[in-house]
Amino acid sequence: MTPGDGRIFPLPRKPRGVFCGPQYEGAAVQQDNPDLTFITPTAPVANETHGGRAKCLQRLVRLDLPVPRTVALSFDEVHRIAQGVMPDMKALLAPLDEGSLLCVRPSSEDPDWGGPGAVLNIGMNGARLAALSAQIGESAARKLFARFIQTYSIQVARLDPDMFDDLDLEAEDVCDVALAAYEDEAEEPFPQDPGVQLAGVLRSMARAWEGTSARLLRQAKGAPADAGLGLVVQEMVLGLGRGECGSGVLQLVNSITGHPQITGRYMSQSQGRDALDGGAESLFLEKDPRGPSLEELAPEAFEALKLDAALMRERLREEMQIEFTIENGAVHILDGVRVQRSSRAAVRIAVQLAKDGIIPKEEALIRIEPRALNELLHRQVDPDAPRDVVGTGVAASPGAASGRIVFTAAEAQASAARGEPCVLVRRETNPEDIRGMHAASAVLTERGGTTSHAAVIGRGLGLPCVVGASSIRFQMRKKTIVAPDGREFREGDVITIDGSEGEVLAGEPAMLEAALDDAFQALMTWADEARDIDVRANADTPADARTARNFNAGGIGLCRTEHMFFEADRLTVMREMIFANAAGDRRSALDQLLPMQRADFTELFRIMEGMPVCIRLFDPPLHEFLPSERTGLRDLAEALNLPLSDVTRRVEALEEYNPMLGMRGVRLGITVPEIYDMQARAIFEATIEASREGEPIVPEIMIPLVSAKREVELVKTRVDAVAAAVRTEKGVDFDYRLGVMVETPRAALRAEDIAPHCHFFSFGTNDLTQMTYGLSRDDAGRFMSTYVQQGVYPEDPFHTLDADGVGELLKLGAERGRKGQPDLTLSVCGEHGGSPESIDFCRKAGINYVSCSPFRVPVARLAAAQLAIRDKIG
Ligand code: PEP
Ligand code: MG
Repeated sequence: MTPGDGRIFPLPRKPRGVFCGPQYEGAAVQQDNPDLTFITPTAPVANETHGGRAKCLQRLVRLDLPVPRTVALSFDEVHRIAQGVMPDMKALLAPLDEGSLLCVRPSSEDPDWGGPGAVLNIGMNGARLAALSAQIGESAARKLFARFIQTYSIQVARLDPDMFDDLDLEAEDVCDVALAAYEDEAEEPFPQDPGVQLAGVLRSMARAWEGTSARLLRQAKGAPADAGLGLVVQEMVLGLGRGECGSGVLQLVNSITGHPQITGRYMSQSQGRDALDGGAESLFLEKDPRGPSLEELAPEAFEALKLDAALMRERLREEMQIEFTIENGAVHILDGVRVQRSSRAAVRIAVQLAKDGIIPKEEALIRIEPRALNELLHRQVDPDAPRDVVGTGVAASPGAASGRIVFTAAEAQASAARGEPCVLVRRETNPEDIRGMHAASAVLTERGGTTSHAAVIGRGLGLPCVVGASSIRFQMRKKTIVAPDGREFREGDVITIDGSEGEVLAGEPAMLEAALDDAFQALMTWADEARDIDVRANADTPADARTARNFNAGGIGLCRTEHMFFEADRLTVMREMIFANAAGDRRSALDQLLPMQRADFTELFRIMEGMPVCIRLFDPPLHEFLPSERTGLRDLAEALNLPLSDVTRRVEALEEYNPMLGMRGVRLGITVPEIYDMQARAIFEATIEASREGEPIVPEIMIPLVSAKREVELVKTRVDAVAAAVRTEKGVDFDYRLGVMVETPRAALRAEDIAPHCHFFSFGTNDLTQMTYGLSRDDAGRFMSTYVQQGVYPEDPFHTLDADGVGELLKLGAERGRKGQPDLTLSVCGEHGGSPESIDFCRKAGINYVSCSPFRVPVARLAAAQLAIRDKIG
């Protein structure tokens, strides 16, 4: 069908209202102008040209639902109206009943972009008052007219709303008072002509859409600058009158949970969405112990509505909210919009639609925004709860938790021992705080960005975390934090960290629990069937590994072994090792660490049940294991039985100006090789131990911070030697895979040289970003928001992979690596690994798997599935 081809279209099913003129019964209307089109089953109406509401109404007409007659105005037509060029009003009104009042509603392409408010009862005037009074009663007719004058004055004539402050809707002369007020303020009589009223409404709505504030508002919601507005002009079904008349809103699911539940309200003698604000006068829809219901008042209408709603769900392939009117017992469907929904409801709705065969599984997968899964994986502040925001920072680890403020890791542990949830507040965290982080319910730091210590550990533990909250004053000595508005919070006060929003809230708002329910599990299973890139987890502890298994990770892509040394008993031995003067002393400390590490690895292998486990050798600078404050130094001197001055001197000697570029990673492995020897032995002995119970385990050993081929050769020689020694001692053979973490630009550039010594490369995009930009991952939070606001960087590159720069190095490293070693396995294990944009990039760059914090694994699995599905459908 093409517009203007002169075809004749049947009218939509005729509404059962008293205002529908008999002249249209059985008639047909010529349909030749797509810009001003009467909505019939075949009218040229499209989402992209007339907006979602107009298109939805056409679908309802096609389903033969009782929809009042409607004319749709296209985006182009409304744009012309905004410019002052009015449509042919006669043509517009031709398909509509002359005797009907009208309403105009906005119809934008995406309902979330908003639009001007609907205007009801257009056409009401003094002449119609008498007829309407006979129909619905004098008082109701007067109120309707007075309300219309009020709406028109404010929304169309843009008069001061205060002028109606004293209007008494019950008064007999209310219409005269309202008309006089209009005349006074507008200095002209109220327009009585329905055509003039309609033109005024159309013009004001068109102009409101094109105004600057409306444009900025919708752009903030993702609308393009030139997004169009359509309008629909519909015959009113009044919802007022002598039989059972009224209006309401109905949907078949609960918007928060997504479970089936008839929700909404109905109010007799009301219009539009009044029932939702009707308080005690509103009825429940289904029978309800809390009060009277539509089901009891008008059972037939209720049944009809349920059937209409079910039909809409099936045929529109979506859960819809229906706006309806009942007039003398008969149901009219005025409008349908997509049900507003929480993320958990979105998952259940999509899964149920697919299970009911209404949409394919692939579409259910595509309908869920991957990041929205975060809401299901963590506790959230109830969206309906009041929020008392104390300050904001970087949303570093999602979820929300409340607790009493503590300022040290030791206090966090003490609090946990008392069974009291606490929020650990630090300027920034360091490895010494890890135990405190384990004990805390949430973490707040003054400094840091997305890849700072607190953020990485927080995400790994699934601990809500806000970092870089520099608008709050942290007074660590006084043990208080001071909000920008001057409010002080002391140790012991209860606050809430909302790590999804990056907000610190006072007190303890109501929460919604995590929802890893059947709908979530079904969606994830379908995602795994669809995706074509593997997803592993970054997991350091048995608890992380179990979370990774729960979220169906394909293995561990990065085990940061240094995180295993922060338990109190290990830390002391570690410090002894660092302080050892002679190789013999060092070896004896390492001999104590060996069984601990072996037990760690054995447990990880057992939990992962034969799935690949990639263990990164020790990475951080040694001084991170040493205390910096005086009390810590004194404790250490006691533990090591050394004078405090000795300890202080040794600690100072290990300090570096720029530790992240200093003695860490493979540099430590080469200068203090006993550490890697011990770790390699622990890995191999654990391999033999865990392999006894099942399939032989093939551990993956990864060398961090490589920048030169020779580093790999040296480490490989020693690791091979340890493997040979363990094989001989134990009389058991095993295999292992050695790989390199590509996280310095030089490693990426020299990948062809390095690759022949490796089974795999894993791109550490945190350090690679840090070194490519020359941007400290721990300090960038201070200026990152200014940089992003001013467009220096499009996004925080620690958060969203910089495809142009860091990405180029990554592609180059991947290509050169595969040139040097065609069977090389490639992965990305930086924090970017879990982000949908990075996964897109990784798939295109031929990366075999991404690895991310366990709690991001589901997000990554869904994002990967969507990318594969989109590729398939083109
Ligand atoms: C990286 O640098 O990307 C990485 C994964 O290692 P870490 O964050 O431990 O430095
Ligand atoms: Mg790194």
